[in-house]
Amino acid sequence: MSGATRVLVLNSGSSSVKYQLVDMADGRRLAAGLVERIGEHSGRLVHTPVRGERRERNTAFPDHAAALKAVSEELAADGTGLDSRELAAVGHRVVHGGTRFTEPTLITDEVLDEVRALVPLAPLHNPANVTGIEVARTLRPDLPQVAVFDTAFHATLPEYAARYALERTTADRYAVRRYGFHGTSHQYVSRATAALLCRRPAEVNVIVLHLGNGASASAVAGGVCVETSMGLTPLEGLVMGTRTGDLDPAVILHLHRVGGLSVDEIDDLLNRRSGVLGLCGDNDMREVVRRRAGGDPDAVLAFEVYIHRLRKYLGAYCAVLGRVDAVAFTAGVGENSAAVRAAATTGLEGLGISVDAALNELPTSGPRLISPAYSRVAVAVVPTDEELEIARQTFALVRRSA
Ligand code: ADP
Repeated sequence: MSGATRVLVLNSGSSSVKYQLVDMADGRRLAAGLVERIGEHSGRLVHTPVRGERRERNTAFPDHAAALKAVSEELAADGTGLDSRELAAVGHRVVHGGTRFTEPTLITDEVLDEVRALVPLAPLHNPANVTGIEVARTLRPDLPQVAVFDTAFHATLPEYAARYALERTTADRYAVRRYGFHGTSHQYVSRATAALLCRRPAEVNVIVLHLGNGASASAVAGGVCVETSMGLTPLEGLVMGTRTGDLDPAVILHLHRVGGLSVDEIDDLLNRRSGVLGLCGDNDMREVVRRRAGGDPDAVLAFEVYIHRLRKYLGAYCAVLGRVDAVAFTAGVGENSAAVRAAATTGLEGLGISVDAALNELPTSGPRLISPAYSRVAVAVVPTDEELEIARQTFALVRRSA
């Protein structure tokens, strides 16, 4: 194997590509960027090298191939384009691995076919992930490419947690079960939380609350995920920026039978027009918190609904784990909103959970504890880094296979 240590991480969406270049010699991020509005008449590439000025291109990117070529040019200008010998691999985020992919996987033609076969389970995400992989393989056919699946960390869910109580033959015929998402983040944060406590992952039980625009909770026992709040799709579980989270499934029947809404209309309603946005008109938690502080009743209610669901999951996962060593808040809301963290944990001393108000308000970044020294359960804020975790898993696999 060559001494190359750099990994390009690609997260390809239907009209966007997010990327990061990471040097696994020391885990340093060398550059990050984003191409938006691929396929539209005006697109944008923003490239941010760690050393040097942020650069921007405002031009059309007709397809993912054009976008990735431009990304490679920007990276080459800093010294490590897609053709660089310093590149050890490309790591691709792939949303759905079904029951087939439970580990990072070296991409071959057969693997790509199997990822394509999972498209019915993730019709919005997997096709874009596949396109990103195809383009990267065309541009650099000799380079190992690795798929890291958002579902993989949840593959350890016990069967009783992964099963819906849905008639078995039908459930199995359509692969209906709970897969979970945000797995790379839950894995990274649960390990980083153990490190913050100076313990090994195998020694601690952690509840991870990933609260971004999408939101999910997980219960991780000794480094192994045993429960998570998202299900067949990312719609189940917590209240999110624009998604309902848990809902009586009969609501869908009712909206169809009585309201006359089509399947696509209901899909749009539940995934894109509900959640905090649907309750108060804003999905940015900063705005919700600001309006709530001013007494806006819609924002007050949206916040209450959001927090109530979060607390229900927190309590449930205490019961799932039995012994909880830490609760970790992460992602945009979890890392930044002291108001959400305070409201989610108030009055939970009976569960061993308490938060120090002053520590919670400190505007520091980086992993930190916000619980008082006497707290039985450590409460932590742990910034997530999915790209670093993808780079890590990619590099480890490439090393092993060399
Ligand atoms: P995703 O990756 O799911 O798009 P992020 O993890 O980046 O989301 O989180 C984005 C969300 O974080 C935004 O919707 C915003 O509401 C929230 N957020 C960012 N900063 C703050 C803050 N200071 N206070 C509250 N919420 C914040």
